[in-house]
Amino acid sequence: MSRRRTTSPPRTRENSDVTARQQFYWRGLHVPFIAPWSEERTLPHPVVERPRSEGAGIGYADEFSRADRRHDVLWVRRPVLRGRGTPDLAAVHPLRQRQAMSHMLCQVCGESTFNEDFGRWGERHLIIARAVEGRPLREGERTTTPPVCRPCAVEAAEACPHLRKGHVAALVKRTQPWGVAGIVYDPRTLLPIPPENPKEPLAEVAFEDPVIRWTLAARDVVTLHGCTPVDLSELAALSVAV
Ligand SMILES: [Zn+2]
Repeated sequence: MSRRRTTSPPRTRENSDVTARQQFYWRGLHVPFIAPWSEERTLPHPVVERPRSEGAGIGYADEFSRADRRHDVLWVRRPVLRGRGTPDLAAVHPLRQRQAMSHMLCQVCGESTFNEDFGRWGERHLIIARAVEGRPLREGERTTTPPVCRPCAVEAAEACPHLRKGHVAALVKRTQPWGVAGIVYDPRTLLPIPPENPKEPLAEVAFEDPVIRWTLAARDVVTLHGCTPVDLSELAALSVAV
């Protein structure tokens, strides 16, 4: 992302204390909260078949149920070492994406989006996404994109190459858990099933779909409700003026 107001000064690795609210900068860029760092590499953890009350599915041989599952779905294991090494601004850390989605944290700064703007906007959150054929975000639309606070949205729209090509923004009344995006394993071979589209390696699987027992989750997927499309620049001007 880019230069922004600095509520906290740029940190170095030496003096950084890894917390959700700390801001990191890399070569002048604001590193999003959900971006992974090089020392947060996924370690190989082979999956095994595990019998479960609702039917067989995948699990880890050394599974710790509280840490490895959420809503009974197996999640990827990933170290949480934010700020260590170099960031990958284009990628997503699965567990911080989940944290941001669960608690409605801004995907860029990691602060809660239950903030002053939330009240000012009629208790709604701002969601910004890359434009798909120019259409607005629709009611009930699925997304893996956590909300964003207003200053970060303005910054991202200017700085993020993906968003600069075109973005859509909406104020959203609520999000509803829908399922996960992840890697689906073949029950016979216990090997990942290749995605139909190599550019989209993660398959979206609903909680009620039995396939979810064979899915290694890497993103929370929610649906958006009470969507009102907004123009980001108008929203920013209006919010400052109030
Ligand atoms: Zn923010």
